[in-house]
Amino acid sequence: MTLKLLRKAGFFSLIALFSFEISAQTEKKMPPIIDVHVHASKVNPAFASDLCPWFLTSMPGSGPNQPAPSFLNNDCVDPLKAAKSDQEMQDAIISATERLNVTMVVSGDAEIIHNWYNAAPDRIIPSIGIGQNMSVEAFRDSLSGGFYKVMGEIAPQYQGKSPSDMSLDEYFGVAEELGIPVGIHMGTGGNGMANITSPSYRASMGNPFLLEDMLARHPKLKIWVMHAGYPMIDEMIALMGANAYVYVDLAGLIWSYPQDEIHDYLKRLVQAGFGKRILYGTDLMIWPKLLETSIGLIQNATYLSYDQKRDIFFNNAVRFFNLDASKFE
Ligand SMILES: [Zn+2]
Repeated sequence: MTLKLLRKAGFFSLIALFSFEISAQTEKKMPPIIDVHVHASKVNPAFASDLCPWFLTSMPGSGPNQPAPSFLNNDCVDPLKAAKSDQEMQDAIISATERLNVTMVVSGDAEIIHNWYNAAPDRIIPSIGIGQNMSVEAFRDSLSGGFYKVMGEIAPQYQGKSPSDMSLDEYFGVAEELGIPVGIHMGTGGNGMANITSPSYRASMGNPFLLEDMLARHPKLKIWVMHAGYPMIDEMIALMGANAYVYVDLAGLIWSYPQDEIHDYLKRLVQAGFGKRILYGTDLMIWPKLLETSIGLIQNATYLSYDQKRDIFFNNAVRFFNLDASKFE
């Protein structure tokens, strides 16, 4: 080989190396994230309103004899766009999970959950709630089928009921027996939840202490408190202290309440020693960009170390849901 040829070969291998590096960089995945709280629902274009994150920063002052304030708010510089059809939502959400390396625990409409699962089986962990008029036996059959790995969202607070209400007890018994983790809505609701949106909703039924009797009846049941029982931080910390296996998620509050308030709440949970029992979740419904919004809030938490963020985004969920971490590499 002549010197000229050698130089040529070297030059080309340098180009090859360089382009390999570029493609390796573009293909470099984000570290994995598990979103434990996603809702799949049929999109109703008439109600698919755009959304300003942290819209509860300024709750409107109004009166019972005036028009009701709107539940959401889309009056901001860059509201998140609502999907206008089921297909648009599916395409946007699946591509977001690939781009951001997110795996989601999804509850809600069975048909939509199956569609998403068929489109991206590695990205979706199906979750089942207690359907209206669903018997305990029908619930057991649905779980025994093997498709559903999680039970949730259980939200008796919207019917003004405690999670320890005996009407729910046998369903929790089935989950305990089958080793299925359960997500229970506690705490947060939004402005006017009881008198504008859901007349049976009771703030008092979101008190984390109301879980105690149910937990005592089901010692092998694994639960996580959705919305971290916001804003009842003292009760939440006391419950987690008394019950060593209770976890919480940050869903809903992380994109709706004022950011200082969310950070104070999260910081308090970590400061109290529960950094290993906080799960990342969004409460995503029809706004695909909410994933980025919510991830950003945790990434920007200056009081958390990289390892603490990785626990919240991923490690805690792997432990709680008994997942195989190697499948996410
Ligand atoms: Zn909820």
